Amino acid sequence: SQIFALRSSHFSTATQPSSSQRKPLRVPNLIGGTFVDSQSSSAIDVINPATQEVVSQVPLTTNEEFKAAVNAAKQAFPTWRNTPVTTRQRIMFKLQELIRRDIDKLAISITTEQGKTLKDAHGDVFRGLEVVEHACGMATLQMGEYVPNVSNGIDTYSIREPLGVCAGICPFNFPAMIPLWMFPIAVTCGNTFVLKPSEKDPGASIMLAELAMEAGLPNGVLNIVHGTKDIVNAICDDDDIRAISFVGSNVAGMHIYGRASAKGKRVQSNMGAKNHAIVLPDANMDSTLNALTAAGFGAAGQRCMALSTVVFVGDSKSWESKLVERAKALKVNAGTEPDADLGPVISKQAKERIHRLIQSGVENGARLLLDGRNIVVPGYEQGNFIGPTILSGVTADMECYKEEIFGPVLLCMEADSFEEAINIVNRNKYGNGASIFTTSGAAARKFQSEIEAGQVGINVPIPVPLPFFSFTGSKASFAGDLNFYGKAGVNFYTQIKTITQQWKDLPAGSGVSLAMPTSQ
Ligand code: NAD
Repeated sequence: SQIFALRSSHFSTATQPSSSQRKPLRVPNLIGGTFVDSQSSSAIDVINPATQEVVSQVPLTTNEEFKAAVNAAKQAFPTWRNTPVTTRQRIMFKLQELIRRDIDKLAISITTEQGKTLKDAHGDVFRGLEVVEHACGMATLQMGEYVPNVSNGIDTYSIREPLGVCAGICPFNFPAMIPLWMFPIAVTCGNTFVLKPSEKDPGASIMLAELAMEAGLPNGVLNIVHGTKDIVNAICDDDDIRAISFVGSNVAGMHIYGRASAKGKRVQSNMGAKNHAIVLPDANMDSTLNALTAAGFGAAGQRCMALSTVVFVGDSKSWESKLVERAKALKVNAGTEPDADLGPVISKQAKERIHRLIQSGVENGARLLLDGRNIVVPGYEQGNFIGPTILSGVTADMECYKEEIFGPVLLCMEADSFEEAINIVNRNKYGNGASIFTTSGAAARKFQSEIEAGQVGINVPIPVPLPFFSFTGSKASFAGDLNFYGKAGVNFYTQIKTITQQWKDLPAGSGVSLAMPTSQ
């Protein structure tokens, strides 16, 4: 079938690097249970960032096709919302099994389109898989509340009902995990869904949708449309879409939050970050430096929870040279190569932007302790590689500090006291994550209570919660009030209905009372 052809194109790209004769396949939309080619004449190339090969092409879906996807979701909703929650859960139970079966294929697709190492791509799938596992308990998660006899013979209860058609708009950096933050929770709550993957790496979304359908998700419950700004604006404006989940940059996120909220939609918008680590001199040096190296350079720094800034307090600043040694030892290579610690960044433009921000740091007086800009990876000379880079003596007024770099660049700052370090972190506009490294319980406790970030790590560099909690970025890293997954995620995709019922034998001739009813 066409879809298997698409799958095999993803897999063959990794094994046949020289595919100059092969015509890139167009990635299909998914509308009402059928994978269909867009009729659009415009498309964007999906490019392997390690080789510059064109993997496939993403169509800029037409308005008619978009509307057909929304209509398919709208038509599927009445039957799906009345499908027992136990049946919906069982589809997720099957889906998690199928994702495990195909995790290697998903990982290869991710590495081919996004560039991260295969091991890291497995992690991308696995962290999404955990959300699918969580959705298997939806009957419990979605339970309502009941208070009997709130007045004589009267009971009140609340139930959580699905909203209708929901939509998700995804970034490039986690091609499997982020779609899986969205549609499994939404559909298991009884909603139907329109997903817009990142135009840079749509392959994993298509494969996950195939698996969801193989697991038994009925036609029209999950739909996929491709495109960029125009399709996003169409999602924001469409009267049939009730809620939007967004993950990506602040520019897009705040635009979507404003535009879709103005149309009365619910929006949860996870955005950019500048995650700090505070290192106290009493921390365990070796494990702290290992954690900083992994969290700063893993996935080439393209994680929203990457630790991109270290604030060394007091004597711990003498550890910088050891951090440089560890970073130097990392192997930069194509993600498909077994020895790769970090792969390329997503695009030529991203690489240029990161170079510019490193240069601005140097020009503003930061010390370049390690410069990864001139790296050449043998066999992958065209790849968008940047080696681990460390800037020291960074101050809060520098552009490289104010901007999210989203590359393998670690900024080092210094503070004379713990209070000063906390102030530095709290003055930053972002609030996705922050970590402390210390052996002092008292310091950790002070950090936990005073730090202004949504996800706090204590000797943990990337404190992304498992799905029974929520992903709780704050400040400029999040807009909305119901976070992704966990209880908040279920609340986001459901609305409360509160029922008051009276069942009692009413005495004859009790008369009419026009006063506001009060409990008796
Ligand atoms: P991006 O904002 O460029 O793209 C995200 C999505 O928005 C894509 O689907 C894209 O097509 C669409 N889009 C882009 N610009 C748009 C515009 N002007 N109008 C309407 N739609 C637009 O983000 P990206 O580069 O793909 O992802 C990287 C960003 O995502 C980083 O800022 C990173 O911190 C953030 N991110 C945040 C989280 C989180 O949970 N907080 C997780 C992952 C990534």
